[in-house]
Amino acid sequence: MQLRYTFRVYPNGPQRAALARAFGCVRVVFNDALRTRKDAYEQGLHYPKSGNLSKQVITEAKKTQARAWLGEVSAVVLQQSLRDLDTAYANFFASLKGTRKGPRIAEPRFKSRKDSRQSIRFTRNARWKITPGRDLSLPKIGAVRVKWSRTLPSAPSTVTVIKDAAGRYFASFVVETEPETLPVVEPVVGIDLGLGHFAVLSDGTKISSARFLRRAEKKLKREQRSLSRKAKGSKNREKARVKVARAHAQVADARREFHHQLSTQIIRDNQAVAVEDLAVNGLARTRLAKSVHDAGWASFVAMLEYKAALYGRVFVRIGRFEPTSQVCSACGVKDGPKPLHVRVWQCRACGAVLDRDINAAVNVALAAGLAVSACRAQVRPGLRVPAQREEAGTHRDGQQTVAGIPVP
Ligand SMILES: [Zn+2]
Repeated sequence: MQLRYTFRVYPNGPQRAALARAFGCVRVVFNDALRTRKDAYEQGLHYPKSGNLSKQVITEAKKTQARAWLGEVSAVVLQQSLRDLDTAYANFFASLKGTRKGPRIAEPRFKSRKDSRQSIRFTRNARWKITPGRDLSLPKIGAVRVKWSRTLPSAPSTVTVIKDAAGRYFASFVVETEPETLPVVEPVVGIDLGLGHFAVLSDGTKISSARFLRRAEKKLKREQRSLSRKAKGSKNREKARVKVARAHAQVADARREFHHQLSTQIIRDNQAVAVEDLAVNGLARTRLAKSVHDAGWASFVAMLEYKAALYGRVFVRIGRFEPTSQVCSACGVKDGPKPLHVRVWQCRACGAVLDRDINAAVNVALAAGLAVSACRAQVRPGLRVPAQREEAGTHRDGQQTVAGIPVP
């Protein structure tokens, strides 16, 4: 399966200028292609084929005075930009048709120089390489210094160079790795992602976010307050803005680190893991949206999924239709909705005393066909786990990484 390894890189002045040029060209090609497709749609024409689009917005455009500078950057990154647009459209249409899981995907939008994250991607045929001196040599940019925080398990196929909102640069390599199956363990677990706790497990564990994450969040709030007090257009405001961007990046890193630690631990400790799929989307459409997005469940669940595939564990998503908070996990009787402030309740049918969050987590596990019992959710012997899903093991989305490495 494919994994992503990300390292901080330190381009020098001329290299930063070359990267800025490349980011700009990629953006222009993307926007030109998007404009062409939108125009075709408005005129009731078929979407132009990728080959024609490439000819029009890259090959032909380079010959015009207005776009001659496209020749200054690697042709591969321009092609990859068109590939990104294709993917964005494919996801959008799949989302419209309902054939794609996960949150609804919006129609591709024009890129802006003000976007907080800029990136270019070099495929294998772009002649990039890691030099004998351990620099990352990129066509038309040069040999960029890399901080190697770990070893790549095999030769990477592509590298994406990213600049984040805090002005940091990263190189993200895609590497093919063999899954390593961990020894079989007995426990299986259902996970309820909630707002009170980050996650509640069917074995009764309640998990709040890590202290280092809370500290980073506190610092971000402080910097945001400081920014709001600075006069518009002042030098101090600009300085404060950079500080806020940096604090944002630190929160993102800390959150990713927390998700990595937790997902690795859950996958190591359990043979099968079940989560509720669309609850996150359902909540995100309500006014709870902000804290839901802050909690970053989607990226956490994606980590669980790829780590399950990597380590030979079972991963199950259950649908939203299961009313996990209304059903007694001991006897299965549906007791009706309960207001959010009701944290503990007693089942009128069987008398079981149920913790709202743990009960929901147990129901998630049960709905996924995992054999956990209600009270403190001990695993019954003879557990049955559902067959591993087909697509496990082939993950190509950008979410993957390896524990401990910040991915912008
Ligand atoms: Zn009951």
